[in-house]
Amino acid sequence: MSKVKVAINGYGTIGKRVADAVSLQDDMEIVGVSKTRPNYEASIAHDKGYNVYTLANRVDAMKQAGIPAAGTVDDMIAKADVVVDCTPGGIGKKNKGLYEKAGVKGIWQGGEDHELAGCSFNAISNYEEALGRDFVRVVSCNTTGLCRVIYPLDQEFGVKKVRVTLMRRAADPNDIKKGPINAIVPNPIKLPSHHGPDVKTVMPHINIASTAVKLPTTLMHLHTLNIELEKDCSSEDVKDLFAKQSRIRFVGQGISSTAEVMELGKDLGRPRGDMWENCIWDESITMYEGELYFFQGIHQESDVIPENVDAIRAMMELESDGAKSVVKTNKTMGL
Ligand code: NAD
Repeated sequence: MSKVKVAINGYGTIGKRVADAVSLQDDMEIVGVSKTRPNYEASIAHDKGYNVYTLANRVDAMKQAGIPAAGTVDDMIAKADVVVDCTPGGIGKKNKGLYEKAGVKGIWQGGEDHELAGCSFNAISNYEEALGRDFVRVVSCNTTGLCRVIYPLDQEFGVKKVRVTLMRRAADPNDIKKGPINAIVPNPIKLPSHHGPDVKTVMPHINIASTAVKLPTTLMHLHTLNIELEKDCSSEDVKDLFAKQSRIRFVGQGISSTAEVMELGKDLGRPRGDMWENCIWDESITMYEGELYFFQGIHQESDVIPENVDAIRAMMELESDGAKSVVKTNKTMGL
């Protein structure tokens, strides 16, 4: 069977990781990636063997920089079965018409609104909803991290209520423009934050509210969760449940900060030191007065990457069983 042809529109933090993960699969292949500027990332993409496409008015600039552009973004889209749009939040929606016109499927990221695709995706929570769909949105790094713990808890014990505080990284490590560099910023100040409602785009019945602050760090987000469950259970029951989830990793053994979690990613030999799983301090999993508490670290640059691979598989109906797709993606990525 021929492989599904995947194009990556926007080869930045998320796009380059999705390209590498798709390249590892035996049922899909990368037909091109797009870069707006002829910078080091475009050069490395070309050296890796990706066909590099660019905006119509940048083809000459690309060539002058010694990076032979394979053509325009429109040319790239014409070669694809599905485009993974990894352009900055808010830009992706402008591309919908391009995908419709070319008759290709499109995946957007969490920076776009749910309404753009009409289906917000997390592999373990609602894989089936994406089967055969033309447009899907893979939810943000934070929402992905929340769905991965809320879904199994809801299945096993029933979730009555979730309250979460998100301590968000200020910027990605390569971003020199954003801050703060010396402040803690309640963001948004008006409560609750949008993160809780975003989980409801995947699991509408969940009672969830969130608050969020931005911190002067680039490494990871940290969530503090407080969850009321329908059924009585112990912290050991929750640990047993989380231990069975393939995209949850327990951290401990002297790891007491997000800095050490990211060092673990490097020591594991992960590409770019990525931590694709939710990193939960198992020691923090506590039942107190009948309510569950725990901490989890979320590597914002990478937790959505396996989810994008699974979304492609669902939309192209390469696999109808979400659990099987998750196993396949995990195995190929080394997760
Ligand atoms: P980024 O800025 O790192 O990369 C975006 C890329 O798109 C850049 O290479 C940029 O040059 C390119 N681009 C800009 N305009 C373009 C256009 N018109 N056509 C083609 N390419 C264009 O952004 P990112 O962090 O990878 O974010 C991409 C999406 O993923 C956003 O929706 C974001 O919200 C979401 N997301 C980001 C993170 C994160 O922490 N970085 C985590 C999860 C989801």
